[in-house]
Amino acid sequence: MRITCPLCGPRDRREFYYYGSEDYLTRPEGEDWDAIDAHLHLRDNPAGRTRDLWYHEMGCASWVLITRDTVSHQISDVVLVGDAAAGISAKMKSKAKAPAKGGAQ
Ligand SMILES: [Zn+2]
Repeated sequence: MRITCPLCGPRDRREFYYYGSEDYLTRPEGEDWDAIDAHLHLRDNPAGRTRDLWYHEMGCASWVLITRDTVSHQISDVVLVGDAAAGISAKMKSKAKAPAKGGAQ
C-alpha cells in the first residue's frame, strides 16, 4: 500500500505508524466519565470508509488523516491533521453558534 504524504509525496505504508480512528481528534470535554470511557475504549470496526490518524514516522514526522476503504484498501484522501483539525474546529464552532431548532430567537 502506498500513502501520498501531503509534504513528501507517495511513500510505502511501512514509513507510517498507524494510530487509530479520527475520533481521537474530538475528545469529550468535562468530567462525563462514561463519555470518556466510551471515547477511549469503544471503537467501531467498519467494513468500508474510515478516517484514521497516521504518523509519518520515517519521513517528515507529520500527523496525517487518511480516508480509506477497509475492504478495497483504496485511499481517497490524505490531509495534514492540522488542516483537518481546523475544519473540525470550525464545524464545532458553527454548531455552537447555530440557534436551537424550535427555540426562541
Ligand atoms: Zn511526510
